[in-house]
Amino acid sequence: MNLKELSRSEMKELLSRLGEPSFRERQIFAWISRGADGFGDMTDLPKSLRERLSESCGWENLSIEAVQKSSDGTVKLLYGLPDGNSVEAVFMKYEYGNSLCISTQAGCAMGCSFCASTIGGKVRDLKAWEMLDEFVRAEKYTGEPINHLVLMGIGEPFDNYAEVSEFLRRIHDKDGKNLSFRSITVSTCGLVPKIYSFAEDFPQVNLAISLHAATQEKRERLMPVAKAYRLDELIKACREVSEKTGRRISFEYTLIAGKNDGDEDAREIISLLRGMLCHVNLIPLNPVRETGLSASTRKRAEEFRDKLEKGGIPATVRRTLGSDIDAACGQLRKKASASSYHPG
Ligand code: SAH
Repeated sequence: MNLKELSRSEMKELLSRLGEPSFRERQIFAWISRGADGFGDMTDLPKSLRERLSESCGWENLSIEAVQKSSDGTVKLLYGLPDGNSVEAVFMKYEYGNSLCISTQAGCAMGCSFCASTIGGKVRDLKAWEMLDEFVRAEKYTGEPINHLVLMGIGEPFDNYAEVSEFLRRIHDKDGKNLSFRSITVSTCGLVPKIYSFAEDFPQVNLAISLHAATQEKRERLMPVAKAYRLDELIKACREVSEKTGRRISFEYTLIAGKNDGDEDAREIISLLRGMLCHVNLIPLNPVRETGLSASTRKRAEEFRDKLEKGGIPATVRRTLGSDIDAACGQLRKKASASSYHPG
């Protein structure tokens, strides 16, 4: 058993079985949150305790398998998981601080037609400790503190609800990273029942919804999940949640040339979102070769934004960071697995 997998209460139980005072648990939790590499790093624990712990538990870390650095300061990390799978995280520098985008699953089951992460399907859910390790190892590698976190890497966070929730509690914990919930954004393709649960469980965490189309028919074509959770139910949930939490919901909208970037698409968004406390993030598509889809031009993206703004919907075109590296989520992982399975 990996020590880092234990929740704080499980760790307390283990220590009380070993006859140790409860403050030892706080020390261990703090070490894990600081990126200790093993039992030996926890220098304020008696050596005898470290030895006894290592007799009853293992210690596992994510490894850094590959790194890509962009000239704009973006760093993409490919993490190796203990079972040989891999996931990605992306470190980005903004005026307001450093931000990290992490993965919540190895692969993804959602099947969005433009996305690289879903091409091989879902392999497995990540554990809370693995998500925490993505964060602490990125801080350790870059040597920089990270003050914003987005769950927008590989995977669908609400398809791994329990572990994602445990991870959010751990990273928010004052004895660990103490990251404020308001500095965290969770992005979902629209698993409606979980949107309601999340608003109850984490009302301060920012919610982002991957919209990508503003009619049921078009959305089904791009995102199969829309067949299970219809657009009208999704928007109803968003309206209720933003009214209840008083927080702005972000909608991500990837602009795909000729598919969802027409004037009528802008009009449909305006009528769909009218009156909601929200914001639309326009993201020019990161083209993924296998999908055959291409990005709208920057000019078109800006026109589209202007149309939304004129219609009363706050919108921005996302700054593209890391465009000289494999920036689209899932691309680095896919490349790594392709090269190990098909050398040359
Ligand atoms: N599963 C979650 C979070 C991960 S995807 C979700 O769907 O929200 C993070 C965001 O990147 C989503 O908005 C997703 O639709 C978008 N995305 C995926 N592939 C993309 C691509 N090739 N170009 C631009 N955005 C992409």
